[in-house]
Amino acid sequence: MIGTPRSESPVEPIVIKVGGALLDDPVARFDFLDRFADAARLGTPLVLVHGGGAAVDRHLDRIGVETRRRDGIRVTPPTLMPEIAAVLSGQVSTSLLSDLRRRDVKATALRVADDEGIVVERLECGFDPGSVGTVTGGRPKLFGDLIATGRVPVIASIGMLTDGTPVNVNADDAASGLARVLGARALLLLTDVPGVLDERGEVIRRLESDAVDRLIDDGVIAGGMIPKVRGAVHAAAQSGCPVVIGGWADPAVLAEPLADSTIATVVPPPTHSPAVETVPTTLHNASSQNSA
Ligand code: ADP
Ligand code: MG
Repeated sequence: MIGTPRSESPVEPIVIKVGGALLDDPVARFDFLDRFADAARLGTPLVLVHGGGAAVDRHLDRIGVETRRRDGIRVTPPTLMPEIAAVLSGQVSTSLLSDLRRRDVKATALRVADDEGIVVERLECGFDPGSVGTVTGGRPKLFGDLIATGRVPVIASIGMLTDGTPVNVNADDAASGLARVLGARALLLLTDVPGVLDERGEVIRRLESDAVDRLIDDGVIAGGMIPKVRGAVHAAAQSGCPVVIGGWADPAVLAEPLADSTIATVVPPPTHSPAVETVPTTLHNASSQNSA
């Protein structure tokens, strides 16, 4: 069994993951971080997990290394780990931290690897992805303490195996794993499309987990959307939190992720979950536990 049951977590944060396209779009990034900072300053307990695939691709291209992905997972030879870690937890994390500090957010930039309570194991996925890990459980120490003191962890998806080997974690997978072990009240996977699209290109408003394999087999869900929906299903099932896959460009997705009027994809937790009745539809309703 993975993770901390929601009821045992002292502060149930909202875990938000943003992808590479946002980080590369200066206008959208400015606007999103303004809205994120408003929520953080109001005391909503938040965790920001970031990708940065495009920045990594550019760096690898500069040093003459070909980028390979399969099912949305970056194939990661061990020799590339220092390069990937340098881009994600050096360049991308530092620039996000700067942007949040300029907005008076008490943010701390870390990697998944920095919390030794979080267990990361090699990803088993039907092909050999190289140095790729996945969060399989544990009891967070550092991240929980930061959230409890009103800080926003900004987390790069670099993990570490128990023997000290650094591994790359797909950022959606990292956010999903963190949502599980932190007992999150909601997980938002924000990307450059308004949600998971069906074969006609329309947003699937409610995605039940038993539909996911068929949509992947049929090729409707492909590429980077595969780890997103798989992570969403896993987080919803294991931690009982609803997961929203939506567009970072839509202010409603951040402000009211679960409202009926918000156009995004919700992966609901299983109906027997105790979380179902307690999750607010607006982000700001979640703020009462953490006003530090
Ligand atoms: P991020 O950086 O946010 O993780 P990704 O590029 O990894 O973004 O994943 C989002 C992309 O997944 C979309 O831009 C789209 O091209 C692709 N995608 C594949 N199948 C779907 C689908 N069914 N619905 C929406 N997006 C999809
Ligand atoms: Mg992605």
